[in-house]
Amino acid sequence: MGFKKISIEKYIELHLKHNPKENKVDLEKRLKYALKEYQKGIKCSCGNDIWVVGSASVGNSCFTCITGESMPKDDYELDSAIKKRENRKGQRHINDIQSLEIHGFFDDDGYEINEDLIKKPTLCLTCIHDNDPNEEPLCNMTRFDQQGEPEFECFAYKKIDS
Ligand SMILES: [Zn+2]
Repeated sequence: MGFKKISIEKYIELHLKHNPKENKVDLEKRLKYALKEYQKGIKCSCGNDIWVVGSASVGNSCFTCITGESMPKDDYELDSAIKKRENRKGQRHINDIQSLEIHGFFDDDGYEINEDLIKKPTLCLTCIHDNDPNEEPLCNMTRFDQQGEPEFECFAYKKIDS
């Protein structure tokens, strides 16, 4: 569950359809202002990110404080406000990183993966590739892909001769 992404133009169009008395110029101004506040990192008084679409009407507040609902269901949020919202604690998005600095990996949404946080399965401890710096990126990729899986499988596994 989450917000439905919408562009600012589309949202204005939709909002005006439901609220024909609304002033388009004014609405656009308020949305852009809320978006700017959001991008500046302004938070709701409760500490959450503000909900731009809602904040344009009632002032800077998060979805929960505005609606009383814990999670958005069929609610819209501007697409440009969603990307940053999904940014999980300190993870950098690939678009925000200088291309020369890009190494390591990124998940499907483009967020950097902190390799230190990837758990090492016990299987790896008996593998000849363990602690081989050349294999490390590949190992981490395999581990990351299977995070949350009950059983860890690795095709590169080779048991240490003992
Ligand atoms: Zn709040």
